[in-house]
Amino acid sequence: MSNISIEFFPPKTPEGAQKLRAVRKTLYELKPHFCSVTYGAGGATQAGTFATVAEILAEGEEAASHFSCIGASTEKVRSELLELKSMGVKRLVALRGDLPSGYGLGGEFHYASDLVRFIRAEMGDYFHIEVAAYPEFHPQSPSPQSDLKALLEKTRAGANSAITQYFFNQDAYLRFVHDALALGIEIPIIPGIMPISSAAQLIRFSDACGAEIPRWLRLRLQSFGDDVESIRDFGVEVITHLCEQLLKAGAPSLHFYSMNQSSAVMQICKNLNL
Ligand code: FAD
Repeated sequence: MSNISIEFFPPKTPEGAQKLRAVRKTLYELKPHFCSVTYGAGGATQAGTFATVAEILAEGEEAASHFSCIGASTEKVRSELLELKSMGVKRLVALRGDLPSGYGLGGEFHYASDLVRFIRAEMGDYFHIEVAAYPEFHPQSPSPQSDLKALLEKTRAGANSAITQYFFNQDAYLRFVHDALALGIEIPIIPGIMPISSAAQLIRFSDACGAEIPRWLRLRLQSFGDDVESIRDFGVEVITHLCEQLLKAGAPSLHFYSMNQSSAVMQICKNLNL
């Protein structure tokens, strides 16, 4: 087993599901520690998440289900946790999630720490719980300090490890890990790695989630125009270098946002001899 994990999103069509099976088969060659499936992001359904998680388990791989709580009732969360347990899922990525704008903070869970606390109260230590962390800080956080405190709260509630939002500035990650440790956060903080395969898609995503694309990277990517192959080659080079630096600096492992594609992750891991 290697020191990487790989994230997928649930496909929306039977063709997408078929394509994802092939992508997973290729990526399993990397012997990931676990594969995770997002939940509720981009309008995807919970059923799609659970179905994809079930397929990964049936393929003999360790699967983590993402689980977001915003707007959910305790009954719904309880019954979904029991369903995941009965499927044999032992890992969760516990999140607050995002409501469409204008919905306010409805429901019985306001923060991911509420969910982690609930899972521990209901299910004890059965699940290994990952939570989200933000080296460049969550867009809704009033200050870096309060966002670090939110991670501390999730740790105190019982999180086992954290996966970060993606970033291209390794110093942001290293300083975040340093500051987290100084605050008493001793769980592993695993860098989330976003391979670059499309400039437009990356810019759109990054604007939405608050991840900064440095000026040099944005301008370089834009300079390739529609030359997809050059963007991909350049992206692999940039992300390989980032991963090398992170591993050298002591990152505990790497979590790849595959975007349901295999080629960039395969190439980066090959470059890293993983
Ligand atoms: P929280 O940790 O609850 O933090 C949310 C905000 O509230 C932050 O600004 C934080 O500083 C603040 N906060 C937290 N606790 C308190 C408190 N006690 N008092 C005051 N402020 C507080 N989204 C999906 O919908 N589905 C997914 O599958 C998914 N997977 C993800 C995986 C990873 C690794 C990451 C990094 C993000 C993922 N997201 C996913 C996105 C995530 O749901 C959003 O970023 C969401 O806005 C915040 O979720 P959170 O769990 O970090 O929330």
